[in-house]
Amino acid sequence: MTIIVFGSINIDLAAKTPRLPQPGETIIGSNFLTAGGGKGANQAVAASRIGTFTHIVGRVGNDKFAEELLTNLQSYGVNTENVLIDKTTHSGVAIIAVDDSGQNNIIVIPGANNNVGAADIECLKKLLPQSTSLLLQLEIPLEVVRKAARVGREAGVRVILDPAPAVGDLPIELYPLIDIITPNEVEAGQLVGFAVNDTETAMAAAKQLQERGVENVIVKLGDRGVVAVTADESFFVPAFAVEAIDTVAAGDAFNGGLACALDGGRSLREAVVWGAAAGALCATKAGAQAAMPDRATFDRFLQNRLIA
Ligand code: ADP
Repeated sequence: MTIIVFGSINIDLAAKTPRLPQPGETIIGSNFLTAGGGKGANQAVAASRIGTFTHIVGRVGNDKFAEELLTNLQSYGVNTENVLIDKTTHSGVAIIAVDDSGQNNIIVIPGANNNVGAADIECLKKLLPQSTSLLLQLEIPLEVVRKAARVGREAGVRVILDPAPAVGDLPIELYPLIDIITPNEVEAGQLVGFAVNDTETAMAAAKQLQERGVENVIVKLGDRGVVAVTADESFFVPAFAVEAIDTVAAGDAFNGGLACALDGGRSLREAVVWGAAAGALCATKAGAQAAMPDRATFDRFLQNRLIA
């Protein structure tokens, strides 16, 4: 079956710096690299690597990064036939500085991601009849996310929203269009208006979000695991113990793993375990898309961990 990711595609321009610069200051950095990023693209790579046929719908811009971004997604097996090249602006860019203590500064310039709109919704509509799940995030205009959720719901596919990055509250009419919402602690806290920092507060937040009309709420608590509330049950899945070196994109890996499991007919509880395994494996490697596990690694990990 097929998963569609409708969302952002960015090029990450990253460098190390001994310390983050002061206003007006220039510092000599090192370790410059470019890599594919954007939450939409990251989730598409995660799902494709774990083994589900994955389309991405979104936009790149009128620059030399466009080709690199498409080739990169294709190298991970993601179908990019429905990525539009927007002639009016540049590709989405994230400029990332990481200092010696691991602190970072990030500037995101959305470019083409901000122009995702009616034409992209048409691309989405074409793909929906052959698809089971639609993955959404919040790095494209919110109004377009709402339209995508609506057409996804009308087509009868499973709509999974990662409400990231945190944007404060969401329009109330969006919630009933979502089958599964997957905030992390910060995002959950912003949505409900109280601090979410343990399983108890995550459970309370999940129940509150459920009352707004979304049937299933999954709160990602980093290395402390995952809380899930469905129509029938509430449960906690602990994080897998791993040697984490870089948790960038762990949340995206989680959503990719979750969608793959559901696509394969697994229960929501099993899907949360798949998400947690994908997130944990992603945390053991540097980078975002480069850290997404392939199917063989993923299967081996789950087999070893679940037998124990
Ligand atoms: P986000 O990247 O959105 O902040 P999290 O940090 O909560 O999301 O990570 C998503 C999921 O990945 C977690 O719920 C957990 O299952 C897994 N994960 C993240 N970090 C770790 C870690 N250090 N050890 C084990 N699992 C992790």
